[in-house]
Amino acid sequence: MFDVSIKKAFRRHEKKMSPLSDMPDGTLTGGFSNFPKTRDRLSPEELEAASRQEFGKLKASRFNSFIPFEGKIVGFNSYTQKFLVLESELLDLFNAGVIENNLPGIAEIHPDFFFELKKNEFIIEDNTDELQKVKDLRNATDFNEKRYELVINPTMNCNFKCWYCYESHIKGSKMDSETMLKIINHIDHVIENQPELEELDISWFGGEPMLYFDHVIKPIVKHAYEKCQEHGIEFTSDFTTNGYLVKEEMIPFFQKYNINSFQITLDGEKEKHNTVRYTANKKGSYDSIIKNIKLLVKGERVVSVRVNYVEETLDKIENIIEDFKDLTEEEKSYMMVSFHNVWQDSGPHVEKLEKVVTNFWRNDFYTNSFFNTMDSLRSSCYADKKNHATINYDGEVFKCTARNFDEDGVEGKMTDEGKIQWNEKFDKRMNSKFKNSPCLSCRIQPICNGGCSQQALEQEGLDYCVVEDSGLQKDEVIMARFKQILESQIVRRARLVKKINKELIGA
Ligand code: SF4
Ligand code: SF4
Repeated sequence: MFDVSIKKAFRRHEKKMSPLSDMPDGTLTGGFSNFPKTRDRLSPEELEAASRQEFGKLKASRFNSFIPFEGKIVGFNSYTQKFLVLESELLDLFNAGVIENNLPGIAEIHPDFFFELKKNEFIIEDNTDELQKVKDLRNATDFNEKRYELVINPTMNCNFKCWYCYESHIKGSKMDSETMLKIINHIDHVIENQPELEELDISWFGGEPMLYFDHVIKPIVKHAYEKCQEHGIEFTSDFTTNGYLVKEEMIPFFQKYNINSFQITLDGEKEKHNTVRYTANKKGSYDSIIKNIKLLVKGERVVSVRVNYVEETLDKIENIIEDFKDLTEEEKSYMMVSFHNVWQDSGPHVEKLEKVVTNFWRNDFYTNSFFNTMDSLRSSCYADKKNHATINYDGEVFKCTARNFDEDGVEGKMTDEGKIQWNEKFDKRMNSKFKNSPCLSCRIQPICNGGCSQQALEQEGLDYCVVEDSGLQKDEVIMARFKQILESQIVRRARLVKKINKELIGA
């Protein structure tokens, strides 16, 4: 069902000449061009001017891919992240230019096509060092001095006893005032010594961070916010929480101190969730969490609701729609629902999921894309970045939050003055990229580059491929991105139709 809609969206766009990147909301990085077979887009004078142009020596980018789709060819350059939809004759023309080592010759035959190839960097100057371009991209992201990100675990304890993570709880763990003071000094140190700093972000993680909202979170947030205000730096903060301990009286604090977003998990609909996520006295948590998500979105906080599912629970998952039916469309716009097949299940059960996702759309929910896309360079993990630290409740400093916070993973110590003394593991992590030889000649390196720093560290010395290791092909990764653009068009169109219907006939 979903695939058919994608095809329809594709057909609609085939007819259009304008690039998608010109869409008014400016959200898309991709762009289509569909080229006329005649030359009547350029006047005879323009044609002549184009054919007279002299070009230096040119080459085809190594980041190009050309993939057949629906009788056309989808061209993608992973550095510019631009798409071109081509007739197969145009790909033949491009390939002929490459084989004959005469790319400028394309301009004589089809100037429009040539200029699109050049503009979107499918064709580049022969002396371009493409690996250096990827390195520059990485440096701009992972060594950005304008932003500093802290992840703080106030505790490794939790108020829930979910079977899948109960064993990692550390009872009685709580950040003490000495560690809190070190964090406050660290924030001051960063603000005073990073002259280009424009943004500071604190993510609260754990354990369940809300357990120590008053004692740990409030004083650190207040201090960070006020210090940032003094120095003209933007402060933001977010939570990964089970959502059970959110209270109405917290909302004004969140609003005042720019605590803007929350990630909260539901383990399926009510019945399933309550068998997994319950408090120490076996009390189910679903109703409280739904109530608290509503408090947050009514307080204009963004909530990313992560819904875990297994095949048998997918049918009932649509009950969640009912549980939020009293929210307005505006309030729902603060929620982003994302569906995740739990690792023990053999999913993702595409057909059932398509039905579920479509029903959420129909009911004004925003959902994550049906297609998983990767962009590990421009949107790298915080742990890959120099200006990031994860501080555990006991003051030990880590990077990655997806591994155990044990002694082996410690990458630094905080001094009393708030400096972090990083150990050799930090240097190794920061130098872990560009060491995996398959990546150095890969056509999708600018969107992958071997995955995150933790993957690079754990596979050091091996020739690995995160895409192939996860059972995918590179073309599938590219087409997921392409289909995601089409999908966003479908959703945008569906919302527009619904809005028009409402305005015209009150439907
Ligand atoms: S596993 Fe990789 S992506 Fe996940 S937190 Fe660690 S470094 Fe980041
Ligand atoms: S991990 Fe695989 S897909 Fe990713 S850049 Fe390296 S070779 Fe390419």
